Amino acid sequence: MKTASQGTVLVVDDDQATRFLVVKWLTHANLTCLEAADGIEALRILREQHEQIDLVVLDEMMPGLNGFEVLRTITADSALKLIPVVMLTAHANAETDFVEAAELGAADHLSKPFSGPVLKAKAVRAVRTRTEARDRLRQAELLARIDPLTQLGNRQLLHERLREESAFAKRYSAPLCLCLLDIDHFKSINDRFGHDTGDQALKIFARTLAASIRKEDAAFRFGGEEFVLLLRNNGRQGGLSVLARIRAALALFPLQLPENKRDSGTECLSFSGGIAVADADNEFLTDQLIRRADIALYRAKQDGRARDCLADDSALS
Ligand code: GH3
Ligand code: MG
Ligand code: MG
Repeated sequence: MKTASQGTVLVVDDDQATRFLVVKWLTHANLTCLEAADGIEALRILREQHEQIDLVVLDEMMPGLNGFEVLRTITADSALKLIPVVMLTAHANAETDFVEAAELGAADHLSKPFSGPVLKAKAVRAVRTRTEARDRLRQAELLARIDPLTQLGNRQLLHERLREESAFAKRYSAPLCLCLLDIDHFKSINDRFGHDTGDQALKIFARTLAASIRKEDAAFRFGGEEFVLLLRNNGRQGGLSVLARIRAALALFPLQLPENKRDSGTECLSFSGGIAVADADNEFLTDQLIRRADIALYRAKQDGRARDCLADDSALS
């Protein structure tokens, strides 16, 4: 059975026989190889495919751009400099070449003729270090888009998702509904019951949103006590009914109040909503969705809160 590739290595050497040997050893280690016969070709492949490449095995002596010049270009390029490079140096000048390779930022080196098992071990280690670093970076990028209190996506993720949903809406001529929800008199919950109860309330609110939408929809914490729903393939009616469902769910779950406040009765969260839709009427334009929903939300607050207003429609509420 074929084992999944552990990573991709760009093998750069003007000598075809050396490339063949390097590729043979790396393939043994379940690494996928790309090949370049000179420095210019190597840099072209790196620029086009740097996201897939986990390691470069780079010959030092090549006509045209030599290995050191390629290495210098890699380490000076912000998109390439995190890709580790193992230099293959000519045996005769080994020590000075090793020093130069290390100074230029090579992760490791080997002298020719190289030992296959040593190349394999060094390549596997370099690829593993690179993939672990990439996983950590992806994790950090993901965490930077998640609100730690509610675990919903934050405003940055909303903007990214909005771009994707915009493309989907235009491509399939499917309406996209954006709902902006703002908890009513939230400051008063903090003031009367304390910040911890306020935080709890935000978590419950977020959980209720997440539980009330379909899996192709998404909920975000837009800011303090403001939240956004993106409802794919939904118009105004869809938005209104989702918000009605959320309101009904919130009414069933009173807040857990601090012990010394429990005799003052129960407290449920209420919110106001602004709904805006990108559809055929506005050529599925999503640029103004948040602003339009915000204007509608303002109207819902003015009209007495605990209600929803539709953007561009002053008659309905
Ligand atoms: P309105 O009905 O007009 O929306 O009134 P409001 O009190 O909800 O709105 P306002 O903007 O006056 O107050 C929002 C409050 O939300 C103030 C702020 O301290 C609180 N808040 C924002 N983020 C958090 C948070 O993470 N935790 C807690 N506990 N409170 C927060
Ligand atoms: Mg607010
Ligand atoms: Mg509010």
